[in-house]
Amino acid sequence: MKILLLSIFLLSSLFALQIKQTPIFFGKKRIQLTKEYIKSHYDIDAKDIKIVPKIILVHFTAIKTYENSIKRFVDEILPNDRADISKASALNVSTHFMIERDGTIHQLMPLDIMARHVIGLNYNSIGIENVGGEKNIADLTVEQLVSNILLIRYLQKKIDTLGYLVAHSEYRCFENTSLWLEKDDTYRTKKYDPGSEFMKDLRANIYGLKDAPCKGFNDK
Ligand SMILES: [Zn+2]
Repeated sequence: MKILLLSIFLLSSLFALQIKQTPIFFGKKRIQLTKEYIKSHYDIDAKDIKIVPKIILVHFTAIKTYENSIKRFVDEILPNDRADISKASALNVSTHFMIERDGTIHQLMPLDIMARHVIGLNYNSIGIENVGGEKNIADLTVEQLVSNILLIRYLQKKIDTLGYLVAHSEYRCFENTSLWLEKDDTYRTKKYDPGSEFMKDLRANIYGLKDAPCKGFNDK
């Protein structure tokens, strides 16, 4: 993808950002489960589920299509095939944004409420999911790269508390920092998304956000 960097830079300056509003249901049940998650995992007595975002955390869904990806986030309760994380909470996973293979950006929930998309950092991060990465093989498209660049630049202008741009595969780098909140040392998953090449290309086009505090990429 490297040789495309200059053209991506030019393209991303030319295209206007478009965000489709595709809200997922965030009813009483999901709000209550989110509050419980904040209490049990972060030991914070929160009166609401508002966050102050400091990190942009980039993912892939490990699912081929948008239709099958979005399905995973719609329900309030975690589907029963998620044994890897169900013990920690019945709260379903969510994400602030999802980007299709053709670059279409969907906003699924407000920026200032907590999504469950990463261990330890949910209370201070915005999640961007990208459709793709089946079997954890990094295969995101140039269109997705351009949309991530445009979206992150937009978020930087909108939210002045943002300080980091991080891959999901790097999340454990924060374990010994003040941003890490998870209290359960046994609750960890191994992540590969969204791929080191994608992050390198993304970071080459984003200014003013720090990398994760260590090199923690996992590529398959
Ligand atoms: Zn992820």
